[in-house]
Amino acid sequence: MLPSVTLENDAYRLAVIQQKQGLCLQILDRAMDSPLADDTAIYRATFPDPSGSLVARWLTDARVQVSGDSLEIGGRLGTLTVRHVLRLPYAEPAMEERLYLANETVETVTLEDLQIGFQRRVADGVGTVLPDCSRGRWAALPFRHRATHPDDLDADFAVADLVERPGRERRATDRPKRFAHGHLPSMQWASEGWAWLYEGRAFCIMSFCQQAITFSTLGVQPHDDHLGLRFGGLSMVDGEPASLHAIKPGQQLSLGVTRYETVAGGVEQACYALRRFYDAHGCALPPDYDPPVHWNELYDNPEWHLVCPDPDHGPQMTRPQAYTLSRLEEEARKASDYGCQALYLDPGWDTDFGTFLWGEDWLGPEDVFVDRMRETYGLGVSLHCPLATWTAMDGRGVPSWPRATWQMDREGNIIEGALCLGSRQYLDAAYERLALHCERGVRFLMFDGNWWNGGCWNSDHDHPVPYTKADHARANLELARRVHERFPDVLIEMHDTISGGSLQRYTPVYYQYGLPGAHDENWGVELMWRPMDDLRSGRARTLYLHNLGSSIPVYLHVDLRDDNIHCLVLWWYASTCRHLGIGGTHADPMVAQAQRLAMGRYRQLEAYYKRGVFYGMHEGAHVHVLLERCAFVINLFNLSDSEQTVEGSISLDEMGLPRDRWYATPQGGSFDAASGRFAIRRLMPPWSAAVLEVESFGTN
Ligand SMILES: [Zn+2]
Repeated sequence: MLPSVTLENDAYRLAVIQQKQGLCLQILDRAMDSPLADDTAIYRATFPDPSGSLVARWLTDARVQVSGDSLEIGGRLGTLTVRHVLRLPYAEPAMEERLYLANETVETVTLEDLQIGFQRRVADGVGTVLPDCSRGRWAALPFRHRATHPDDLDADFAVADLVERPGRERRATDRPKRFAHGHLPSMQWASEGWAWLYEGRAFCIMSFCQQAITFSTLGVQPHDDHLGLRFGGLSMVDGEPASLHAIKPGQQLSLGVTRYETVAGGVEQACYALRRFYDAHGCALPPDYDPPVHWNELYDNPEWHLVCPDPDHGPQMTRPQAYTLSRLEEEARKASDYGCQALYLDPGWDTDFGTFLWGEDWLGPEDVFVDRMRETYGLGVSLHCPLATWTAMDGRGVPSWPRATWQMDREGNIIEGALCLGSRQYLDAAYERLALHCERGVRFLMFDGNWWNGGCWNSDHDHPVPYTKADHARANLELARRVHERFPDVLIEMHDTISGGSLQRYTPVYYQYGLPGAHDENWGVELMWRPMDDLRSGRARTLYLHNLGSSIPVYLHVDLRDDNIHCLVLWWYASTCRHLGIGGTHADPMVAQAQRLAMGRYRQLEAYYKRGVFYGMHEGAHVHVLLERCAFVINLFNLSDSEQTVEGSISLDEMGLPRDRWYATPQGGSFDAASGRFAIRRLMPPWSAAVLEVESFGTN
């Protein structure tokens, strides 16, 4: 029997206690003298077996050793060798966890399922929540609310909620030429991270892995006499990480890092901790980030909205009539009127859907078009680029791509017209076509239609076979990398590489961002069609949380026809998406005029929105700080049907702003010298927005 082993720093005390079966891993929050984990750690692996499955339920030959500020647990989990390293840095009030899985056998190890994590006792054997667990809540970080959640569901649970309802696992398109997303019930919830919020503190659990698709999970663990709550470690979700399905002899897998950190405050402060964690791992905002404000022609241009009532009519081939040069000129004039910096071309600019070949026959030469936009309207040109998976589903543009790009099914049959994004043949051709646009002056590419293709077994494609979701994500990254290698200044927005243009964000929000040559912006999960309804339903809250929990910029364009006289749509999406796009002429000229004026204000303040540090007093009070100016902008929103006083406060220390300056206090604003907090209070009409700038001046 091993003696118990302990390690501690200012924040936590970690103890490993050998039990008859398994190891008890305790984490104590030292400031509160309160246990965070207090039960047998979960080490569980499921392996295929001729009789079904074999489950290994604890480490054998377990050993624990402390070296410096790290504690390492090692052992065998079935045929898998596990190293579980927990580091308590002396200088930081935090804990870092890393897992290494190795195959030291001579056969490939296949895992069907894996769960590793700490465990907290939360209820007795009949589901009654233990008294010290009834306090506090567990909230997903950063997405307490996702655009795919039912309106009334927040991933923000009391332990009693977790006892009562199962978790959800995201599911994405599972076959070629299909586009579908949803979720299935599960014994766990998966997120980028979690915060246990109690007594004004947030115990944050945040995971990060660029080698594989991994999530931070929160799972209930029923036992004979009690219920445990599993957190941290690594658990498979929807079969990911897929690399665990075939671990070759001698292979070792390093599966990222999980950081544990307790901060004072609530969900907002927990999100800032997550953002700092991502920043430290290469996901920071570039200091010179300055994306062009887009005008999207799609909302007013007929091409996208055409409907043919004859069900037997062939495919839509209307581009030369509907997507004309004169219409684009009209859109460019509007772009200029609204103070935009680039004309964004949604589907219609190429010879057919997803060909990436400029429609020269009806738009004229591309370089002439780009020059004219710049010289006549002062606009850049930005392009929507639907990649292989959508092109395959649409069908029209398929003949322009080599047949060698078609997917092969598991049985070795070529799937006609199913372009494989991961094929070398597609990547080579797509890069050549995209590079041509960049040569001609295009400075923004949207990678859309890039979702998971269901798998491809074509060994001529030079991608791994079987082709996994992570391989597909890497293929997307490779295309961005090739473009950036030659055109480092071209901005690339990457839709989720598994869910594409849907409300669902499948991969973790940071996934692949910051890697060499990777994309510059995430997608605002399709909240572009009915932006007012997305606000009213609460779906748009996901963008607020994205901005709080990471510095990674979001790009979204929104339909201004959906806006109101207060320009609520314009300001909400301007405040939550660092790269803003707009489009659509409002039917009410008064609203359209208000929007043009609002855009003038936005352009004056744009440095705050594009590059400022984002804070949230709450969902209806946003703060954008420019440290170099010692100044900030506040966006207030009344997101209700009645007139309301919207108020909030934030400390100067939290914003990193000095107290020894003179701040221009806006109407309704005040500074409290004792607490060092700025407070704001405004009576606002229903569904309205307000913008306030707070400048400061030195004494010299
Ligand atoms: Zn393929």
